[in-house]
Parts: sequence; structure tokens; C-alpha cells
Amino acid sequence: MRLRVAVIGAGAAGLCTARHILARPETFRPPCVYELAQDVGGTWVYSERTGIGDHGLPVFSSMYQNMRTNLPKEVMAFPGFPFNPQLPSFVLHTDVLAYLDAYADHYNIRPQIKFETFVELVKPAMKEKTGSGVTWEVTTLDLRKQDRTTEKFDAVIVCNGHYFQPSVPHITGVDIFQGRVLHSHNYRRPEPFAGQSVVLLGASNSGQDISLELAETARLVTLSHHGLPIASPLPSNVHEARVLKRMTEKTVIFEDESSVPADAVIFCTGYEYRFPFLSTDVELRVHNGRVSPLYKHLVHMTFPSLIFIGICQKICPFPHFDVQVRFALAVFANRVRLPSRKEMEAETIEEIEEKRASGVPDRHFHVMEERQWSYHTSLLSLAGETPLPPVLEPLFQATKVFRKNDLLGYKNRSFRITGLDTWENN
Ligand code: FAD
Repeated sequence: MRLRVAVIGAGAAGLCTARHILARPETFRPPCVYELAQDVGGTWVYSERTGIGDHGLPVFSSMYQNMRTNLPKEVMAFPGFPFNPQLPSFVLHTDVLAYLDAYADHYNIRPQIKFETFVELVKPAMKEKTGSGVTWEVTTLDLRKQDRTTEKFDAVIVCNGHYFQPSVPHITGVDIFQGRVLHSHNYRRPEPFAGQSVVLLGASNSGQDISLELAETARLVTLSHHGLPIASPLPSNVHEARVLKRMTEKTVIFEDESSVPADAVIFCTGYEYRFPFLSTDVELRVHNGRVSPLYKHLVHMTFPSLIFIGICQKICPFPHFDVQVRFALAVFANRVRLPSRKEMEAETIEEIEEKRASGVPDRHFHVMEERQWSYHTSLLSLAGETPLPPVLEPLFQATKVFRKNDLLGYKNRSFRITGLDTWENN
């Protein structure tokens, strides 16, 4: 009997999932993809609005108007589906959305998607208490007609993204600060900050990127973070400071008691994982940045017919999704024999301990960076699937170095893949 799979979300991960399910008609019926937005693309669907959007739901996308990718298109692409070769390497967010649109059309995914359909509840139908024998009930709300429907599935793949629920630290004095306070999720463009003193808390990708575009119009940009000083030259009006500790009416004070008068504070403090549609029976736990109980960051250990794509961070997202999806489908098709629950838990504990020993904070358990390559190899070899193009690793690593040393100029580089694992740039 062919399996019926529900896919939650039609961003890059959901599209990739649908594409691979459709390519295996001997094992799977066409998937049912639920998407709350009117179109595909997820976080790449730029919205002018912030706060509450269509149908009274929070605006989903975190894109800002001038956003250009921080990875070159040569490593961003799904295997076998390159970006338009005429484009520069570091493309605009609109180019990525056009790419995902083209992907959806090329693999004829759109007919499988129920747009403007909000997944409210995913519940195991307890035929058996645990294990792969469980079937799933998915309750959705048609946002146009306000109709509720419940359908049954053999498996569920969750692709709901993790850049929509801002993580905002509590800072003493935030309530008396008279300037503007926002999270990067709600940042759209630099013009409203013209001539101002802006403090950004957090210097990861968004913090760095937004501070550079603010520097063009703001008077002073202060990048507050707990890392080592940034290696790259910065614009003359961008300064670094220790972590923000408290705020008064008009001033921001850092850990070392230095301070700066500020008109606005932007929290570039990342996001939280959220799966509000999972019933409590699923017993999914999100604690200190870790989603559990997941085997290899994706398979629910109690319910292996429930799989999460895209939990990992600091990865090459689209190729990574492709690997995880092919592994997931091999699990559903019984081509991968999962170890016992005890063995899966032991492997996870071993990974936690290995990361602790090498200085990775527990809250970064899903952060992959260099580990992504061996992770991919492990999933693909277990699933008997073809490897990713070998050039991804050296080009991803080289981009990291270019970015680290030259934040202002690295996006002007253009890359060309010259061989299986070779590339050149100009
Ligand atoms: P999303 O794109 O978030 O899609 C999730 C989908 O699920 C959405 O369409 C949403 O509407 C839907 N959904 C959620 N809940 C429900 C529900 N209950 N019912 C129905 N539908 C639901 N990646 C790169 O490769 N290069 C970059 O340069 C890059 N820059 C980035 C910059 C920013 C500012 C951000 C936020 C991310 C960036 N990323 C980048 C990472 C990006 O998130 C991934 O590339 C990828 O698009 C994530 O895809 P996803 O499908 O996992 O999630």
C-alpha cells in the first residue's frame, strides 16, 4: 500500500519534500502540502508589513527590502537544479523567491499544495501506542472559507521553518527606554533610522548584515555582542561594544559599563523553534535551543513516522534539506532500519557530549557548520542515496573566510564551478 504523507509548509524544505515524494510513486501517493500563505517560498516571500498580516496571523517572513544572500547561489542551489547562470553569485531575496517558484513549477508541485490552509493540529491516532504503526490526524483551517477539515495520513513531515518566532531577551530598563525597540524579524529598511544612533544586539549573520546597511544612513551604529572583535574592516560609523546590559530613557549601557545615547535598539538575537500544531501526545520538547527527542536532528524517536526537516542551523540550507528529505523517505520506505530507541538516545547523548567537549554551548546543539558534511555523508550512506556535489564543502568554507575577512566586499565576488570539487572566482 502506498503511503500518504502530509507536509507542513511550502517553503524551500516543504517544496523539496514534495519533489522527492512525487519522484517515488511506487512507495508514496502524491503528498498533501499545507501552506498558510498564498504562494510558495516561506521566508523568502518579502512582506512590507510587520506585526499582524493576512487573516489576522503574525507576518511570517523575516526578509528585509535590500537583503542579498550571504551564501553564493552556487552552494545555495538544490542538487540538479541550478540558479539562473546570468545572476551574480550573491543574489537578491527576490531572485531566491523566483528560483523557488521555478523549482515548484519544474517538479509540478503546485497541484499538491493547499494554499491559505493553516495546520492547527497534528495528532497521532493511537492505534498502537508508539512506533511506525501510528497513523496521523491533521486538522486544518481553510483561511478563506473558515472551514475546518481533518484528514488521515501515514506520516507527517514538518517543514514549518524556524525564523518566525523572535527570541527576545529581557533587558532591564527596556520599558522606560524612549527610543524604538524592535527585533530583526520586523526590520525592513534603513531609511527610518537616518541620522540616528542605533544599537544592534547580536552580531551573527543578521546583526552584521543589518548594521552594514544601516551604516549608510544612520549617524552611529553600535554592534553589541559577546564574541571576539570582528576581524573585517567596518564602516567608520560602526563600532563594536560588549553585550547590552541595561537601558535608561535615552541611553544603552553595556556589560563593561560603557554606554551610548541611542535612538533605537534592534535585537538580532535569533529565533525560537515553535511547533504549535503538535498535540501534547507527541511529547516534543524544545528546551535551551534543542528539539527532542530527535534522532539525527530529524526523526522523532517515539514516532518515526513524524519527521522534521530543517532544524539544523549554519548549514547550506537547500542541499541540506535535500539530504534530510531523501533520508526521511528512506526511513518511511523501510530502506533505513532505525536502531533501537536506546541506541538512538545513546547516539544523541554522545553527540551532546562531543559538542560540549569541543566548547559548543548546549543551546547550539543543532548548529552544524563544518559538521554538516559528515552528517550528510552519514545520512546518505545509510539511505543508499547519491552524495551531494563535492564542491559544496570547499566553496562554503571559502565563503566563510571571505565573509570573515571582508564583510564589506565579499558579496561582490563571483564564483564559477570548474570541476567536481574545484571553483574559481573573480
Ligand atoms: P520557511 O521558509 O520558513 O518556510 C516555512 C513555511 O511553512 C512557510 O511558508 C510558512 O507559511 C509555512 N507554515 C508555518 N506554519 C504553518 C502552519 N501551521 N500551517 C501551514 N503552513 C505553515 N538561506 C540561504 O541558503 N542563504 C541565505 O543567504 C539565507 N539568508 C537568510 C536571511 C534571513 C533574514 C533569513 C530569515 C533566513 C535566511 N536563510 C538563508 C535561511 C532560510 O531560512 C532557508 O534558506 C530556507 O528558506 C528555510 O526554508 P524552510 O522551508 O525550512 O522554512
